Amino acid sequence: MSFADKHLGTTMALIVQKYGGTSMGSPERIRSVAARVARFRAQGHQVVVTVSAMSGETNRLIALSKAVSPNPDPRELDVVISTGEQVSIGLLCMALQETGVRARSYTGGQVKILTDSAYSKARILSIDETAIRRDLGQGCVVVVAGFQGVDAQGNITTLGRGGSDTTGVALAAALKADECQIYTDVDGVYTTDPRIVPEARKLDTVTFEEMLEMASLGSKVLQIRAVEFAGKYKVKLRVLSSFQEEGEGTLITVEENSTMEKPVISGIAFNRDEAKITVLGVPDKPGIAFQILGPVADANIDVDMIIQNVGKDGCTDLSFTVGRADLDRAMTLLDGVREQIGAAAVSADKTMCKVSVVGVGMRSHPGVASKMFRALAEEGINIRMIATSEIRISVAIEEKYLELAVRVLHKAFELDSVASSKNISN
Ligand code: ASP
Ligand code: MG
Repeated sequence: MSFADKHLGTTMALIVQKYGGTSMGSPERIRSVAARVARFRAQGHQVVVTVSAMSGETNRLIALSKAVSPNPDPRELDVVISTGEQVSIGLLCMALQETGVRARSYTGGQVKILTDSAYSKARILSIDETAIRRDLGQGCVVVVAGFQGVDAQGNITTLGRGGSDTTGVALAAALKADECQIYTDVDGVYTTDPRIVPEARKLDTVTFEEMLEMASLGSKVLQIRAVEFAGKYKVKLRVLSSFQEEGEGTLITVEENSTMEKPVISGIAFNRDEAKITVLGVPDKPGIAFQILGPVADANIDVDMIIQNVGKDGCTDLSFTVGRADLDRAMTLLDGVREQIGAAAVSADKTMCKVSVVGVGMRSHPGVASKMFRALAEEGINIRMIATSEIRISVAIEEKYLELAVRVLHKAFELDSVASSKNISN
């Protein structure tokens, strides 16, 4: 039984498929995408496809723009970088037609995918289904350019890097598709990065909430906005490999399946891109955290973990982490703030990273934090900061321990074994 038969039934389904840049990377690969789409068509399903630019193309277009203008005008930058996807849709339609499948391509503006006017990070407001429904009704495969839209004034916009995922999910939501399939170069969502832990396992299912945490913690499998969107509109979302014939990928589920015992921890995520800032000798009085972090937020710098030490002699220290790319900007800002509030000094540490354990099972199982901290302690890894959410515990540690930490946690929570449903038991 084929994947499509098993999951979508033998009746006709409406499927949205998204193929990423690697899947579209060469004429040969485009032909293999076309062959896959053709198979779904042959089974009687209606297929809407959205594609990324060929791999490397968006980077090339950004570099080209910057070579002409170091600080390109945002409107014109979107005009340039949206072109990669236009090439992809045309090529894929040609490949489909070569296999005898009728296909029509549409740019975001043609569909139309209406967005706000925030160039390079536009949000989708609505999608006009008319042309898509008409073509599907006539037996065509509809191929829509990912990553792009058009604002109310007709300006071309783009959705942010990795935005084709969001196009796919938004199309699936608008069309009430039976499934949105994201085809990529990995065969699903893993317990952690297999390059660090070879025993990492592919997950059959993961909840939206877990996926959202993993995406925001640095897992690059799906654009975070796409996951938010899918959760909000209850889109059935599946991540699959475009390089494998078989395989069911990972299904992103709305609810954790209560009949099945789920592992407490679903995955270990990590992010190298952390820098720690400490403001030393801060007067310990109301309003100080706001005076320090307010200007940082106003400068659009994301602050992640925050700790304030116990005050002593009327003074305290406040530490927090920011992305490394924002460190210099934050330090310049804080220099001014330091003088204003009369703090002793500001120091920076670029060698931090963040490791997180994620799992919805944490809600009902105590002891995850202690298990995590013990595993790290046994390896002599010093925890510098801790942050938690309902389904995540993150620690900041020195970057040189990142790989070791990920490995020991993967093991401690028995993620490399299949029977990991009791991974909290000591
Ligand atoms: N081509 C765009 C990018 O490289 C969008 C995407 O691939 O999803 O970010
Ligand atoms: Mg992508």
